[in-house]
Amino acid sequence: MKPRRQPVKRAAPRRAPAPAPRRIAARAHAKVNLDLRVLGTRADGYHELRTVFQTIDLHDMLTAQEKPGPFVLKCRTPGVPLDDRNLVWRAGAALWKALGRAGDPADTLVTIEKAIPMQAGLGGGSADAAAALQVLARLWGGAPLSLLREVASGVGSDTPFFLSGGTALGLGRGEEIYPLVDLPRHWVLLVRPPFGVSTAEAYSWYDDDRAAGVREPRGELQILPVPWPSRAAQMVNDLEPPVMRRHPEIGTIKAALREAGAVAAAMSGSGSAIFGLFRTRPGAVRAMRPLAKLAGSAVLSRTLSRAEYEARARPILRRV
Ligand code: ATP
Repeated sequence: MKPRRQPVKRAAPRRAPAPAPRRIAARAHAKVNLDLRVLGTRADGYHELRTVFQTIDLHDMLTAQEKPGPFVLKCRTPGVPLDDRNLVWRAGAALWKALGRAGDPADTLVTIEKAIPMQAGLGGGSADAAAALQVLARLWGGAPLSLLREVASGVGSDTPFFLSGGTALGLGRGEEIYPLVDLPRHWVLLVRPPFGVSTAEAYSWYDDDRAAGVREPRGELQILPVPWPSRAAQMVNDLEPPVMRRHPEIGTIKAALREAGAVAAAMSGSGSAIFGLFRTRPGAVRAMRPLAKLAGSAVLSRTLSRAEYEARARPILRRV
C-alpha cells in the first residue's frame, strides 16, 4: 500500500519581531559629608553652606522603562512616597518640561530599589533624583549634561553633586559643585541609629540653638592622616552639635567608632547616620561587631573616586 502523503505544512510568513521595550537602569550611590559648615542664613531663607561631599559604594537601583499610560513610580520600601513628594517624580516632571514636552510626564514606569537608609543624611532621595535624570534622559531621547545640571539644581540642593560624584566641594545651598582631588580610598562604616532626622528638623534645631545663644564648642578638627592635598575635609559638621543635643546617642556612636579604630568619625549631613573612616577593610570589619551591638546595625561601604563613580553610575540599557 502506498504510504499516505502527509499534508505539507506551510510556514507562516515571518514577521519582524516587535522591538523589545527598552529599560534603562542606573545605580544611585549615597554620599557622606567629610565636612559641613553653615556660613549664614540667606535672604531666601536657605542656609549658606560650605561642604565636602564624598560618594560611597552603597547604592539604590533606579530603572526606567516604556509603559503606555501615565507616569508611574514603584518602590517596595515602606515610607517612600510614590507621588510628587518623591524627588524622582519631581526630577521626571522637571526634565519633561525642560525637554519642551507638553502636559505631564507619560508612558514611563520608574522603579526604585532602596538600600540607602532614609532620613540618614546619606542623600538617598537626591541620589535617586540624579539617577532618574540620567535614565529618563536616555529613555526620552537624550539631553545635554548642561541641561541635566540646570534641572538638578531645581530639584534638590544635593542633586547636582550626584551628576559627577567623587570628592567635591559644595557651596551655596550645596548645589554649586567644585571637584576636588579624590580622597584616597577609605573604608566607611555607616551606623544609622534607630531614629531618623529630617533635614528641616536639623536646620531648625541649629537655628533655635543660635537664637537661644547656645554656644556648643565646634567639634575637634580631624585631619585625615593621608597624602591628600586638600585641607577642606576636617570632619567638622556644624549640624552635629544641635542634633547631638537632642539625640546624645549620636555622640556615643561617634566615640565608639573612634575607639574601634576609625581614623575619623562624624555625623553625615543632617543625620542621623554617623560614619567612621578606616584605612583598611579588615580594620573596618573588626569594628562592625561592637558598633552593631551598640546601635543595632552597621553597614560596611567604601569611598568611590570620581572615575569609579562615573563608571558605576552610568546608565545601562537592558532589553526586557
Ligand atoms: P539628605 O541627606 O539629602 O538630607 P536624607 O538622607 O536625610 O537626605 P532621604 O533618604 O533623601 O533623606 O529621604 C528623606 C525623606 O524624603 C524621606 O523620608 C521621604 O519622605 C522623602 N523622599 C523623597 N524622595 C525620596 C526617595 N527617592 N527615596 C527616599 N525618600 C524620599
